[in-house]
Formats: sequence, structure tokens, C-alpha cells
Amino acid sequence: MLHESTLLLVEVCFTLLTTALLVAAALGVGRQAELRLWAFGNVSACLGLALGVQTGTPIFFHAVLSYGFMGLGQALVWRGVRRYCGQDLSPKTLAAVTLASMLLTGYFSWAEPSLTGRLVVSGFGFAALDIACLVTLVRGVRDRTRPVMWVAATGFGVLAAALTLRTLWLLLRGDAPADQALVMNGTLFVIPLAQVCIAFGLVLMITRRYAEELRRLSLTDRLTGAYNRAGLDSLGQRMLQRARRSGRSVAVAMIDADHFKHINENFGHAAGDEVLRQLSALLLAQLRPGDLVVRYGGEEFLVLLDGLNGAAAERVCERVRRQVVEARIKLPNAELNYTVSIGLCSSEACGHELEKLVAAADSALQKAKQDGRNRVSLG
Ligand code: GH3
Ligand code: MG
Ligand code: MG
Repeated sequence: MLHESTLLLVEVCFTLLTTALLVAAALGVGRQAELRLWAFGNVSACLGLALGVQTGTPIFFHAVLSYGFMGLGQALVWRGVRRYCGQDLSPKTLAAVTLASMLLTGYFSWAEPSLTGRLVVSGFGFAALDIACLVTLVRGVRDRTRPVMWVAATGFGVLAAALTLRTLWLLLRGDAPADQALVMNGTLFVIPLAQVCIAFGLVLMITRRYAEELRRLSLTDRLTGAYNRAGLDSLGQRMLQRARRSGRSVAVAMIDADHFKHINENFGHAAGDEVLRQLSALLLAQLRPGDLVVRYGGEEFLVLLDGLNGAAAERVCERVRRQVVEARIKLPNAELNYTVSIGLCSSEACGHELEKLVAAADSALQKAKQDGRNRVSLG
């Protein structure tokens, strides 16, 4: 009994600490639903553990309700993990886990009273939920947060192993006191450490994803989803450096919507915005994944074509120009079409310096405009 209550007390303390960490994170970083679920899950588990040590209270409180809260807490954590991986867990499953925790504990409290029975059922049950979290994470996290995901996944794995070991030990030893037992003392230390590992891992995952999102936002244009000037500086320079080192050519195209002011004047700025969105989507769809699409100015896009010489880039730009001519922009009350002029320059002609390439593409664009628009001009 001493071990049981000590274990519970240590678990309560660590769960309180990790809960405080998750609640602080949930309050601090944006409005991530998964962080709130993890925080609520831990608060629920805390309540369960706190009730569990109130052995002077009726068994409904310190056993049935206690395990109900702990089951709900674990299920909420699992739901948060699934949300993080773009999946969901229905409220029905949450209710089922909570109810099952209470019913099974109730059975071993009133129908077949046995502390071992309660511990065995909860031990295996919670280990199963930890394994569910582990499997969800390992299979579901495919983005750049995968390396830190392993911190939380290891925590869930260790927790599941410790719970299973402890439960098997209890099952084999029955109600006999296990004061000196290595397994009991071992799990006494391992379980709180695994909880810390999980909490830190989850917070790391969220903050890493948040940082990635902030970086993406800082490099992209909100309206069109193309890169912005900062994106051009960072990714464009990198592409040119790599190309120079490996002797690949790069072509830069400056694409400008013709008479765009008239579109705004005749159809409204919302229509103009829609044209820009669709032009950006068309460029992104037409080009290869390694190419870079940048919104350079209001209605000007810059495209960096990796590995293309002037002639090949001209063919690509001609294809884009024709696609724009064929595209119809559907508006709520009208339909419009538009054209683009494209100025082009390749590293064979201007070298691998971004500024020079952009300036040459810009001059070529001016020429395309002077020559009558809706054309590609190679500088
Ligand atoms: P040209 O054929 O010579 O390129 O003529 P143009 O009318 O396209 O070029 P101009 O530079 O005279 O006008 C560009 C217009 O683009 C002016 C500006 O109001 C509009 N514009 C810039 N950014 C945005 C935007 O984000 N949304 C909308 N709707 N319009 C924009
Ligand atoms: Mg224009
Ligand atoms: Mg312009």
C-alpha cells in the first residue's frame, strides 16, 4: 500500500508539473487545438490521480471516478496526437474510453472487489492508449517535426512498457506486497520520466511546427501563395549558388499582367486579386517543383527556372503565355480573360548573379511591352 500511494503521489507531482508545462504552452502559442487537448487531458489525469489518493472517500470517488478521469485524460491526449497528425477521434470514442475505465473499475470495486483487478485493467488499458499514441505519431508525422516527434514517441513507448511490466508483475504476484521488487521501484522512476519526455516532446513538436509555419509565412505572399522578396533573397540565391557550383544554367522570367489597371477599374479590385491568384496557381502548376515562383511586385511575378537554358526557358514561357490567353477567369457576374508579357534572361547570357538576371529580365519585359504586349522577349 505504501508503494501504491507513493507511486500515486510521485505521479501526481510529475503530472502536475507536465500539466503546468502543457497549459503554459497552450496559453502561449497561438490557438492550436491539439495543445489544448493535451493540456485538458493532463488536467483530467491530475484530477483522477488526486482523487485516487483520497482513499478515505467512498470507493466511487477514489476508484471509479478516479479511473474515469484518468481514462478521459489519456483519450484526450490521444485525440490531440491524432489532431496533430491531421486525423480526429470522435467524442463517442472519448466517451467509450471514459465509460469503460469506470465500468471495469466499478466491476472490480463492487461485483468482484479486487485492487489487483483494478490495477491490472487500468495498467493494460492505459498502456494500450499509450501505444495508440505512439503508433499514431510514428505513422502520422511526416513533416519536418518528425525528428522531435521521436522524443514524445519514446516517452509513450517507455510509458507503455513500464505500465505493462508493472501490470504483469502485479498479475503474477497477486495482492502480495512487493516492497523490494525491482520492477515496482524501477517503474516508480520510469513512469514520471516518461511523462516528462512526452510533455517536452509534444511541446517541442508544436513549437517546431509553429516556427516552420512562421518561416513559411515570412517567405510567402499572402494573396497568391507565391514566394515574396524575402523568399527570393533566401531561396533564389541558394538556387543560383548551387547551379553555379554544378555548372547548371538558370533562367529568370519576369511575368507582368497586361493592362492590369483596367481589370481593376472595370471589374473591381477583388477581380484583380482573383486574376493574381489564378496566375500564380497557373505558374505553380506549370513549373517543376525545383523552380521558384515569386510575387515580385503588384502584378509582376518572377520565375526562376532551374537547369534551363534560354531556348528551353523560352519554350516554357511561351507555353505559359498561351495558357494565360486560354484561361477564363470566372467572376460572380462576369467572365474575363487577360494576357501577360514575359521578359526572359538566362545565366548563359547574364551570369549567375541574381540582381543582374532580374535587371536583364526586367529590360526584356519592357521590350515585350513596347513590342505590343502578350509576348515573350528573350534578353
Ligand atoms: P502594363 O500592361 O503596362 O503592365 O499596364 P498595367 O496596368 O498592368 O500596369 P500598371 O503598373 O500601370 O498598373 C498595375 C496595377 O496593379 C496598379 C495597381 O493598382 C494594381 N495592383 C498592384 N497590386 C495589386 C493587388 O494586390 N491587387 C490588385 N487587385 N491590384 C493590384
Ligand atoms: Mg502590368
Ligand atoms: Mg507592372
